[in-house]
Amino acid sequence: MDIRLTPEDLELQRRARTFTEQVLFPLELECEENDGLSPESFGSAKRAVLDAGFNAINHREENGGQGLDGFEQILIEEEWGKATGALWDIPWRPAIPLAAATPDQKERYLWPACRGERRDAYAITEEQAGSDPSMVRTTARRDGQGWVIDGTKWHVTSGDIADFFLVHAHVDGDPAKATVFLVDKDLPGVELVRTPKYSHTFVFEHPIFAFDGVRVGKDAVLGEVGSGYELTKDWFVEERIMIGARTMGAATRALDLSLAFAKERVQFGEPIVGFQAIEFMLADMAAQIMAAKSMLYRVGWQAARGGAARKEVHALASAVKLVCSETAGRVADAAVQIHGGRGYMREQPVERLWRELRVDRIWEGTSEIQRMVIGNELRKRGHEAFTGWPS
Ligand SMILES: Cc1cc2nc3c(=O)[nH]c(=O)nc-3n(C[C@H](O)[C@H](O)[C@H](O)COP(=O)(O)OP(=O)(O)OC[C@H]3O[C@@H](n4cnc5c(N)ncnc54)[C@H](O)[C@@H]3O)c2cc1C
Repeated sequence: MDIRLTPEDLELQRRARTFTEQVLFPLELECEENDGLSPESFGSAKRAVLDAGFNAINHREENGGQGLDGFEQILIEEEWGKATGALWDIPWRPAIPLAAATPDQKERYLWPACRGERRDAYAITEEQAGSDPSMVRTTARRDGQGWVIDGTKWHVTSGDIADFFLVHAHVDGDPAKATVFLVDKDLPGVELVRTPKYSHTFVFEHPIFAFDGVRVGKDAVLGEVGSGYELTKDWFVEERIMIGARTMGAATRALDLSLAFAKERVQFGEPIVGFQAIEFMLADMAAQIMAAKSMLYRVGWQAARGGAARKEVHALASAVKLVCSETAGRVADAAVQIHGGRGYMREQPVERLWRELRVDRIWEGTSEIQRMVIGNELRKRGHEAFTGWPS
């Protein structure tokens, strides 16, 4: 078994690290202090994304993306995840279900989104529908040549900068006909309801949008009527693995900063790293990152290069998201403790990481929902996918 990264993987990792250090880190304090970036800073960061060739890293070249495999994407996202303020969301990754677009839809949505000229936001969650999307009340009904969409969507990440939405709706109110619609933000009836504040600092917003009798053409259906859950599942699987990658990057940075601080900070006449209480915290952080990251790389490899079946990857992605997000939360908490009072100051990256990592146990399926997916796999096919090894 050879688990070494290839020279190409190492080069990609190096490029992503340089990008994070040179483009994202310098924007962190501006983002934290102003709850976002100025148009100038955002504009120059976007240009840097294009210069680095980090736009649409998740799409195939024939669809306008960079043509990277899932493992390469993990290496990149791990580096970006070290940045606070969710600056990792500046390099745009058009939602993967857009790969199911028709040639005409690709021309209008996917290609410009890959170039950074358009931006999507994925709208599934509603006031009454979170973990259970079958409770979605947004409806689409046929009207003449097209569709009329009605409903309200919550927590629409990047909805402030998006110019189109992937809206998960039930045709005729029937959950068996869950369907994703491409909806332009400037259409009559698309309304910003409000922009709530969240615990974390996020470079963009998560507004609530109402769709009030929004008329779209018959060509607004992504995939087919009734394929909504399958498309949304593709999105979840990709996002769950990438959350694994970003949380591992964040946890590694928290450890790095804690180790450096503990070596430097002197109390009771010696560096605090000399106290076993601190040393043990650092040891736990390192060992837990090692365990979670090993799992992430293994699953990333299986999914991208190991020929794992789609169902298996779905279950494994839940295990990755569960373990990596919970590990990173524990690591960031210990990092705050090691930093003492400084760890509670927003100007310190460990404070921001601690606050920002909390949502990774909630979005793209809570930890409880990941356990349900894992449990379902155990009941249906046993534990081999988790406890066995790819052959
Ligand atoms: C910052 C942020 C950004 C987001 N961005 C987006 C976005 O871009 N697009 C989008 O569509 N959504 C987005 N979401 C929504 C997110 O995916 C949901 O919040 C999440 O899926 C949980 O749904 P909920 O909040 O309704 O909680 P609920 O489903 O109401 O859950 C409440 C609690 O009950 C638990 N629970 C629910 N069902 C079960 C069960 N069967 N067994 C055990 N426990 C259960 C949950 O784990 C949780 O602890 C975002 C959320 C946040 C906070």
